[in-house]
Amino acid sequence: MEILVPERRPPDAVLATTELGRQILDGPAPLASATDDALARLAPEHRPFDPEELAQIRAESDEWVRSPDTIRARLGPLTTRTEKVMLRYATATRFAAVELGDLDLIAAGTTFQRSIRLPDAAGEVVASLSDLWAAGPEDRPRLQSQVAAGVARFTTLSELFADSVTDPDGPVAAYWSSTVQVPPTIRSVLDEVESASLSSPDRRPGEPAAVGAALLEAIDWTIEADALPLIAAEVMIGVADDVADEARANERLTGGLVLLAIALSVTAAVLFGRSIVTPVRRLTDHAERIGRGELTLDPLPLGGPPEVATASVAFNDVVGTLRLLEQKGRALADVDLDHPSLHQALPGELGAALQRSTEVLSTSIVEREHLRSQLSHDATHDSLTGLANRAALMDALAQQCAGQSPRAAAIFIDLDDFKRINDRLGHAGGDLVLQVVADRIAALAPTGSTVARLGGDEFVVVLSGATIDDAAERARAMVAAVAQPIRAGGQANRIKACAGVAAEDEASSPLAGPTDLLHRADLAVYDAKRVGPGTVVCFDAGFGDRVAHQNDVEEALAAALRPGADELRLVFQPIVATSTGALVGVETLIRWRRDGAWVMPDDFIPIAERSGLVVRLDLWVLQAATAQMAAWADVPELADMTVSVNLSGRTLMRPTLPAEVEAALRAYDLAPNRLIVEVTETALITDLDLAAAQIDRVRASGVRVAIDDFGTGYTSIAQLRALPVDELKIDGSFIRGLPETTDRVLLQIVEDLADHLELFTVAEGVETAGQVEELAAIGCGALQGYFFSRPLDPDALARWAAGRMASSPR
Ligand code: C2E
Ligand code: CA
Ligand code: CA
Repeated sequence: MEILVPERRPPDAVLATTELGRQILDGPAPLASATDDALARLAPEHRPFDPEELAQIRAESDEWVRSPDTIRARLGPLTTRTEKVMLRYATATRFAAVELGDLDLIAAGTTFQRSIRLPDAAGEVVASLSDLWAAGPEDRPRLQSQVAAGVARFTTLSELFADSVTDPDGPVAAYWSSTVQVPPTIRSVLDEVESASLSSPDRRPGEPAAVGAALLEAIDWTIEADALPLIAAEVMIGVADDVADEARANERLTGGLVLLAIALSVTAAVLFGRSIVTPVRRLTDHAERIGRGELTLDPLPLGGPPEVATASVAFNDVVGTLRLLEQKGRALADVDLDHPSLHQALPGELGAALQRSTEVLSTSIVEREHLRSQLSHDATHDSLTGLANRAALMDALAQQCAGQSPRAAAIFIDLDDFKRINDRLGHAGGDLVLQVVADRIAALAPTGSTVARLGGDEFVVVLSGATIDDAAERARAMVAAVAQPIRAGGQANRIKACAGVAAEDEASSPLAGPTDLLHRADLAVYDAKRVGPGTVVCFDAGFGDRVAHQNDVEEALAAALRPGADELRLVFQPIVATSTGALVGVETLIRWRRDGAWVMPDDFIPIAERSGLVVRLDLWVLQAATAQMAAWADVPELADMTVSVNLSGRTLMRPTLPAEVEAALRAYDLAPNRLIVEVTETALITDLDLAAAQIDRVRASGVRVAIDDFGTGYTSIAQLRALPVDELKIDGSFIRGLPETTDRVLLQIVEDLADHLELFTVAEGVETAGQVEELAAIGCGALQGYFFSRPLDPDALARWAAGRMASSPR
């Protein structure tokens, strides 16, 4: 905005540190063409003003210089407009950044948005200082506290701002720490006030001389603060450019980001206009106020650019009156009652006193109201995310459960391992992540619901008129949204969450009180966390019994896994070659003798998987199975037998698993290719890339990997191709209907696909001769099922194998 005369502007040294600032130093013409360029690159609907409008304003700017009367009339609306444009872009950037999940961009946006508030806060201090300076002794205490409140507000905003500056070596931090601090003169005015009221009643608080000096310094201070958004905008443009560069491969993103960067450069140009407009307007406002107080001693002729001339009038007034006041003050302090200054009247002060008091009173009432609403907002909101806080949540729950309103439901969301995020990104980064998560959750909450943060990494959503199924669906959507990557420090961070859901409905017992709903959702999320990241658990009718049963099984199984417990056994089910009927391998299956009765895996493996106990169980099986393989060295039919073990998804993902498998094999000197690891299809496709990488590591030693229960998990052909496995175990549910059903066609497709990918196939749950025939026709590699044998203990297996050898065609 070269239309403005940059008489009062940030120091050249500061401007020289930014690209935009250098353009400003180069003079109006290059800046004008830079603004034109940026505007031209924006689609018309994105332009803060169209080029003709800008041209007209530029043409008029000469007029302005000639007619000072219109200055304020023109500056006012322009400032309002630029502020609006700026805030719109700041908000748009923040949305874009949140959508992209790019923490650096979000951080830069937050810094920028917060930087905008600082010059205004400083301006308010200037205004109240001028009130204080001009006030009579009786008004001073009230006005002093107004200044103190203004300084406190600035300090709070600065702290917020400083928090948002994530790069301690960047230009924002440098400018901030070296320049934009509350001037010491203001501090000493406040200190003086405090010490005067506390300790020495003879001292006059808020001496006009000191206040006047503080006022002059404060005006410079607001001008310095005005450069801050400029620098922050510059940083944001840089980050947006980087992100656009990085995302170049993704064309959709790139388009949006390039637009964003251009929009930002226009904003920054507008901003610069504001950085000049604001202090000048403030000065002219100020001049007017002082003028109304008729404090002018020697009216000075106008000279130079009109806005500066207006300002200098005000300054001369301030300085002149100040000098007089200083003399009076000194005379009084020296008890020199004959000093001529004491007989010199303060111009117009008495006359204006009444009006001024009313004005001051009304502004202070407005400010108090503002403060009160700010306080009540703070009392009910979480300062980090702007969501409701615990107190407000309890309120909402109490209202929901008061009877009248429709049935309430609550979703309790807990982030997984948030400490790790904090450790990795630091506290500021962690805070930003929480804000992104809060935004994502809030975006999915229906209108009328309450979204709260309970502190830390816990969020609660209270829904009105939702059934438990509705709420569960919402909860799943929220958990999925939270899991979208958040980019920070050049990498995509994944935050997973769990949710617990509870609702007032007929199926569950009546609520004991408003907090009962929250308590139930809390219990449900606790259960979800045991299952693992991404889980949603509902507190439904059977929840209590189920959890009790699970706890019981977990405890007993943990005891069974302790050394010397002797409750777990392995059985082995033969796998035979389809073409020859020869024994080609055995699958290891676990059995648990609990309190004298055999418990089948389906009754405890799912529970063990929920709690993570399954990892210990799988490692136990790995040990026991390899020990058994070694023991079979004396049984000729089994000495070289391939043995499959089942591993849960959790066990597979263990970073140490490859080493553990190798160690188990090495302990008994077993060839790695004798071991096959079976992992269910569903466990593999939840995180395909990770699973593929881990399978590679396991296979590196020569161990083979099979996809278990194939056909139950909807693996696509592309996914299957991505998994580096050796074998498919086709789920028994597809075999059961043979030979009659259409499953035959499906099985043929699977077999063809497996052949194409060079995967060996094993059909599970084979129970009839007819099925064997069909599977042979389809071309399935090997068969397993009751038709051949049930799972057998080691001795029984040895006998079975010997018998098989005797009768086998080979
Ligand atoms: P799975 O891995 O699919 O094991 C095959 C299951 O089918 C076994 O049940 C087996 O006894 C049964 N089965 C075999 N042939 C037939 C047949 O012809 N008809 C029918 N209807 N069923 C047949 P089991 O032993 O009850 O194991 C159930 C599941 O528990 C296993 O399914 C596996 O997922 C899991 N499991 C068993 N042992 C372990 C283990 O040591 N670790 C882990 N993580 N999971 C295990
Ligand atoms: Ca299996
Ligand atoms: Ca299976």
